[in-house]
Amino acid sequence: MDKQQDFVLRTIEDRGIKFIRLWFTDVLGTLKSVAIAPAEVEGAFAEGIGFDGSSVEGFTRRTEADMLVQPDPTTFQVLPWRGEIDPTARMFCDILTPEGQPAVTDPRNVLRRSLDRAADQGFTFYTHPEIEFYLLKSADYGPDGPQPVDSAGYFDNVPGGTAHDFRRRAVRILEDLGISVEFSHHEAGPGQNEIDLRYADALSTADNIMTFRTVVKEVAIEQGVHATFMPKPIWKYPGSGMHTHLSLFEGDTNAFYEAGAQYQLSKIGKHFVAGILQHAAEITAVTNQHVNSYKRIWGGDEAPSFVCWGHNNSSALVRVPRYKPNKGGSARVEYRGMDAAANPYLAYAVLLAAGLKGIEEEYALPPEVEGDVRDLTPRERSVLGFRPLPASLDEAIAVMEESELVADTLGEQVFSYFLANKRQEWDQYRSQVTPFELDSSLRTL
Ligand code: GLN
Ligand code: MG
Ligand code: MG
Ligand code: MG
Repeated sequence: MDKQQDFVLRTIEDRGIKFIRLWFTDVLGTLKSVAIAPAEVEGAFAEGIGFDGSSVEGFTRRTEADMLVQPDPTTFQVLPWRGEIDPTARMFCDILTPEGQPAVTDPRNVLRRSLDRAADQGFTFYTHPEIEFYLLKSADYGPDGPQPVDSAGYFDNVPGGTAHDFRRRAVRILEDLGISVEFSHHEAGPGQNEIDLRYADALSTADNIMTFRTVVKEVAIEQGVHATFMPKPIWKYPGSGMHTHLSLFEGDTNAFYEAGAQYQLSKIGKHFVAGILQHAAEITAVTNQHVNSYKRIWGGDEAPSFVCWGHNNSSALVRVPRYKPNKGGSARVEYRGMDAAANPYLAYAVLLAAGLKGIEEEYALPPEVEGDVRDLTPRERSVLGFRPLPASLDEAIAVMEESELVADTLGEQVFSYFLANKRQEWDQYRSQVTPFELDSSLRTL
């Protein structure tokens, strides 16, 4: 037994933990949980705990159902919202095959494989997400759509407001769980909030995002409101993005930083951005995985619609932020495409793969966009090479289907499962006759 495992067992005993929840994520990004008794933990570390993988989205084919979950002791945390009675803790798990091999369909494993490829080239991948979400009065909605809890806007300080209490409570719980929060503020939409997590290695960030979603949902229930990470819940208000700041380190050195270079962005940084832009359309089905995702990226409101990069430009898909020249360590680029409902493991895996490809192949960085890319005419955009992002889930799937990069990164099984599942979502959507069609046509046609 290693030191970390030993520490977990001792903590369970010392703190009188009664239940240990084993957490993992399915291919679509839904958190799964199974609770075990303290006596089972040692065995779980040693051999894993069996479960029926065929009941989890994307894990196995029906004929090979048995899988194992094996807890990762470095992720052990007591869940603060469960209180003092029968204290409960959680650990994220890796999924194993019955032979004890890492399961290729486990999203954590997909990300690990991508991180290993970066490590082979000497890089560690760090990410820092800005997570947006809406607080609604309830999950019910009338003809006007969902009802936000307030009518405030960007950075508003709402006296006595729900959002204030909400953020304070959520941030407190996150800190108790060892997740550092950098900023939290009201976002532009009524009831819309943003909480930014401090940067961490990408695997920890992805785990942290899964925890974050759970905490936000739990606090919402506690406060009698409904929280949603739906990419575009209300047509006339901004959608909820999950912009992520990305950087590569070589040891302690930020590989994106070069003093004196344009925007202090190193050659490696430029190739990385070029890689992301080159493969942006192919990875969009992963970073924006729902029918509803495409209502956000075509709705304006600072959500990107075109493949381009810019310096401090919030209409660009990739933004190279300004940072203090003496703070080379904080050099990073911001990917603004992804939405709050993405599976963070898969999304970070494909983003990293695209960036690494740019470095390996030494892709040239195209010209930057100046001003708002939406103000250009379609012809100007086409001359400058600013291609549109896929306009619908259907288009995104079609581009992804042809992508060797995405197939390699996700692995054949996740790739084909994901495509089949998304094709099904699209087919269900397109078979609907929507209120829009009835409102606009039933009387007149
Ligand atoms: N809500 C916007 C989006 O969906 C982002 C707004 C912002 O943070 N500037 O991407
Ligand atoms: Mg922000
Ligand atoms: Mg924001
Ligand atoms: Mg941002």
